[in-house]
Amino acid sequence: MKTAFFEKNAVTPIVKIDYHLPSGQVCSFWLKRDDQIDAKVSGNKWRKLKFNIKHAIALNYQGIASFGGAFSNHISALSRAANLCDLKSIGFIRTDNLDPQNPTLRYAKEQGMHLIPLSRTEYRHRHDPDFINELKAKYPEFLFVPEGGSNQLAQEGLKELAEEIINQDQFDYVACAIGSGGTTSGLCKHLPCKVLGVPVVKDNRLLNSLQSDFPAKLHIHKDAMFGGYGKLSDELETFCLDFYQQTGVVIEPIYTGKLMYALCKQRHLLGVADDAKILALHTGGLQGLKGLVYRHQIDQSAWQHAMSSLAL
Ligand SMILES: *Cc1c(COP(=O)(O)O)cnc(C)c1O
Repeated sequence: MKTAFFEKNAVTPIVKIDYHLPSGQVCSFWLKRDDQIDAKVSGNKWRKLKFNIKHAIALNYQGIASFGGAFSNHISALSRAANLCDLKSIGFIRTDNLDPQNPTLRYAKEQGMHLIPLSRTEYRHRHDPDFINELKAKYPEFLFVPEGGSNQLAQEGLKELAEEIINQDQFDYVACAIGSGGTTSGLCKHLPCKVLGVPVVKDNRLLNSLQSDFPAKLHIHKDAMFGGYGKLSDELETFCLDFYQQTGVVIEPIYTGKLMYALCKQRHLLGVADDAKILALHTGGLQGLKGLVYRHQIDQSAWQHAMSSLAL
């Protein structure tokens, strides 16, 4: 079966995290290890791509086309998943030049993805129906999936994730990072408990729309953005490394690091009862670390131990 990769039993473990603060206090929560689904198609990208890939195969598309930045976890995961399922893939990349040394793009190309650069101006139209229809006319054999993979088909995979969590245990909150918001809305739709969303992108329109879709269910914590998408600080990087040292769990500073920072360092600011049982979702995305090293945004030697423990 072409979809065998997505048929494997994906029930990921839930582990207890005890993070020790310098004050001696211990911050405890639960962590669902969706990063362990697959080294390359990790976390919420596996969840979101599953039904898109199945749909593409069922409808006899030749492949999947999508959009992403030059270091995108979604592009990396899509290239691999499509390859494993005998589908072609096209990545429209926000860049003026396709840098052949860029580790994410190099990997996607190795997986057979056809990379097409879009200028920043062109890329701004990635959600415009007219622009998409033009591309669809040019590539009629391809199923078009939006940036981040967040579409209606993705919601089916997130429903499976929610059901998996419900079968595993009861929680007061499930916490996740918010990028395009697809994962958050899937969890809000299908979980009985509250959802704690930690945005990593400065996008008030998205946050307002999510909040108005799920007024009672979704609690958004905006204080761990560190200035916006891909913005880092020494404090955040140090925290990610310390989290790894204490727990053995690798996180990256773009998504999961900001989520864990909120849970560990801003627990008192979350507006969540002290005794609330929180499950955080490890959404994977660890390939992003290679891009951060490549751009010298994190210190390669400090991350060597964490990164060598992964099959990146
Ligand atoms: C893409 C991504 C997210 C964001 O998920 P959305 O559904 O786009 O909100 C979170 N974490 C990681 C590691 C990701 O790669």
